[in-house]
Amino acid sequence: MARPVILAVDDDPPVLRAVERDLRARYGHDQRIIAAESGQRAVEVLAELKLRATPVAVIVTDQRMPGMSGTELLAQARELAPDAKRVLLTAYADTEAAIEAINSIRLDHYILKPWDPPEERLYPVLDDLLADWQAQVQPAFEGVRLVGSRWSPRVHEIKDFLARNLVPYRWLELEPPTGTVGGSPDATAAAAVREAEQLVKAADVTPAELPLVVFPDGSHLAGPTNLQVAEQLGLRTRPTAPFYDLAIVGGGPAGLAAAVYGASEGLKTVLIEREAPGGQAGTTSRIENYLGFPVGLSGADLTRRAVSQASRLGAEILTPQEAGALRLGDPYRTLVLADGSELNAHAVLIAVGVAYRQIDAPGVAELTGRGVFYGAAITEALQTSGQDVAIVGGGNSAGQAAVYLSGFARQVTLLVRGASLGQGMSQYLVDQIDATPNITVRLGVNLR
Ligand SMILES: Cc1cc2nc3c(=O)[nH]c(=O)nc-3n(C[C@H](O)[C@H](O)[C@H](O)COP(=O)(O)OP(=O)(O)OC[C@H]3O[C@@H](n4cnc5c(N)ncnc54)[C@H](O)[C@@H]3O)c2cc1C
Repeated sequence: MARPVILAVDDDPPVLRAVERDLRARYGHDQRIIAAESGQRAVEVLAELKLRATPVAVIVTDQRMPGMSGTELLAQARELAPDAKRVLLTAYADTEAAIEAINSIRLDHYILKPWDPPEERLYPVLDDLLADWQAQVQPAFEGVRLVGSRWSPRVHEIKDFLARNLVPYRWLELEPPTGTVGGSPDATAAAAVREAEQLVKAADVTPAELPLVVFPDGSHLAGPTNLQVAEQLGLRTRPTAPFYDLAIVGGGPAGLAAAVYGASEGLKTVLIEREAPGGQAGTTSRIENYLGFPVGLSGADLTRRAVSQASRLGAEILTPQEAGALRLGDPYRTLVLADGSELNAHAVLIAVGVAYRQIDAPGVAELTGRGVFYGAAITEALQTSGQDVAIVGGGNSAGQAAVYLSGFARQVTLLVRGASLGQGMSQYLVDQIDATPNITVRLGVNLR
């Protein structure tokens, strides 16, 4: 991949030179720094970079510029460089415009001028944004490849496992997706089928042995369990020590927060998670009410941040691994893990959260994983492109799924037992649903 670009824009030459100098000093080694002296020039630069398929990581722009303001430039940049992180470098007088831009153009950050010392006021913001960008950007594909049918529950489970563990993967089918709206085989679909056929042949597996998982080092597993996939990926599934000060069961926000505080207090801490860190929060497309994140963040983002914070402070995270039983001894408590192994700790903190209620209407169990999914909005979103989707539920997770899937599906219908949406859903989601034309809400519906 070409070196990603950081684009600096300011109409005041000495200020532009100073920004460029500070950016080059810190990021010049890994990123290409480009300076533009106007919004218009910046748009031209972005268009050239697009044609050359050069990724733009961050745009740092002044707000007040003749001809085109910083926010106008950033609005245009959403088309030319949709993945780029957007930062306004503003004078105090323009703070209001910057706050307005958080909503109107999804501004990622604003920094007040002067930004001296950059080590305190500029670099921490850009470091964070670059890490986010790097986590999201899609370079030429080098990750895990999964071959199997969209109607296979195991394929869905592996996709969900990889996605929730933040492992980049590409899913390939042996047949083109005919019979789906908007799914007539095109050149890209045909190339994907070709690649799937080549992988199946090279791995010498039969259709009955699918799904096939091919790893970046060229190794492969046919019909693997999640644990086998995890071990091949090098995820840590077994404890490294027999004794811990603190063992935490459950890697949702509660367990991860406990891991951060336990490890930061110097306790030898282990966290055991049976599916993927992040818990329920890890499955959400956008959390808008988490303190300290004014523009919201995705569940995957929250998980990545929490896992790296806990790991950096020294907590050990075992996943996928399940705690099956707890024995109370003196002075240790003993956790028996699903694979039969044991670990001991002075204290055990149980943060196992909740699981989805299952629907027991006829046919649901048989179709689960093959058209019926629980809380799988992110994993299955692409497959709903151009299709009609029904979501059962009237709580916040149903609301978030409806808003997210409305960006892919032709029509989303929300089936709600209650008499109004507001009974079980936050007002910000009710408002978003009201404002989304391809979401229909049906109240008083009971699925039997
Ligand atoms: C789709 C969705 C969207 C949401 N959006 C928001 C939002 O925008 N704002 C908000 O405030 N809240 C939101 N929530 C709610 C929020 O995510 C939960 O309140 C929060 O995740 C609860 O955290 P927790 O750590 O207590 O439990 P959980 O998140 O449920 O985590 C518990 C973890 O324990 C693991 N576990 C269970 N048993 C075992 C075992 N025996 N061994 C090992 N591991 C085990 C589970 O696999 C799970 O990962 C949302 C929830 C969902 C599902």
